[in-house]
Amino acid sequence: MLLAHKIELRPTADQADYLARACGSRRHCYNKLLEHFSQKDVKWSKAAAYQHYINIIRPAFPWYNEVSSRVTRNAIDDLDNAFKHFFRRIRENKPANPKAKTFREKFGFPTFKKKGIGDSFALREKPKFDVEGRELRIEKLKTKIKMRQPLRFTGTLNQVTISQRAGKFYASILVNTEDYNPHAPEKDAVGVDFGIKSLAVFSDGTETPANDALKRNLKALKRKQRRLSRKQKGSNRRARAKLAVAKLHKRIGDQRQAVLHELSDRLTRDYKVICLEDLNVKGMVKNGKLARPISDAGFGMLRRMIEYKAELRGVEVAFIDRFEPSSKTCSECGQIHDMPLDKRTMECDCGNVMDRDMNAARNILARGLDTLRPDLKRTQESSQTVSAASVLTA
Ligand SMILES: [Zn+2]
Repeated sequence: MLLAHKIELRPTADQADYLARACGSRRHCYNKLLEHFSQKDVKWSKAAAYQHYINIIRPAFPWYNEVSSRVTRNAIDDLDNAFKHFFRRIRENKPANPKAKTFREKFGFPTFKKKGIGDSFALREKPKFDVEGRELRIEKLKTKIKMRQPLRFTGTLNQVTISQRAGKFYASILVNTEDYNPHAPEKDAVGVDFGIKSLAVFSDGTETPANDALKRNLKALKRKQRRLSRKQKGSNRRARAKLAVAKLHKRIGDQRQAVLHELSDRLTRDYKVICLEDLNVKGMVKNGKLARPISDAGFGMLRRMIEYKAELRGVEVAFIDRFEPSSKTCSECGQIHDMPLDKRTMECDCGNVMDRDMNAARNILARGLDTLRPDLKRTQESSQTVSAASVLTA
């Protein structure tokens, strides 16, 4: 299955310059080709375009050499696609723009690309680009570009499309992946407790720490908002402060999403069964006992991510209603203890001594398995994973 993951890049100034030049070269080449094939009596074909590119365009613009030759060559494929759509609309008599005056406009003849609108370029074959961890390597660029997230899928890399929007660069990486076919995660079932100190604690003791960069940005946001409130209405300074707040908001949103993707990936990749508390019930989200990415509407996002990834990966999820406080119950013997928030360890007279959050995660796991048990039995006997597989390949 082909899946795309779009990741924001963090290029250095030099790298950003390279990327911008690549976008420019691709746009220039596309427009030069289109200029030639827009003439009357010049008929489009991919072969003719290639000849024109090699013999006329490329020699005329030696600066194309500064970027990977694929950047400009791929403009042929892009224009070929645009022409294919144009011819198809004519064949099917489906005008793109029925009211247009000219035939070309009516059927959506390819148009010239403008700077700043849909700026992008693509590299299609793996040796031309590669991804290692959080770094992207592309041809003719000696240094690797930092990515804000690691690639979400494993598999064969088919293509990277780098685009520029509002001064930022993004890489959309197309992966041919087996990853989303149901597989057998190594670990069985896990209970998850969300908190403040850690984003999440798993019942096997694994912790996902709260994201420090996100925390810092949230603090900075508060500061910037205060500053904004002090500025005079209608002033330039206020406009500037407002822009700064908006930018940071966007940044925080992206960061939060990345954090939640990592968490949901980890859960659905490693465990066969995931048990979580449904935090949307009883105003749990408002109680301030959660790390920021989960609170303020983040839980809904996390829930959706876990649900779709679990379905694709053939993993079971139990969202359990909040029950008698999971952090107050001893996960070994079931006794209820007084557990004020600052008490970080569950100490029970049955001998159980355990980190508060891990104890809660274990309770959530037990409760989740209770609610799932009938389903679980069926999974083991029959073909739950097979049916998920047939859905995927259909
Ligand atoms: Zn106990």
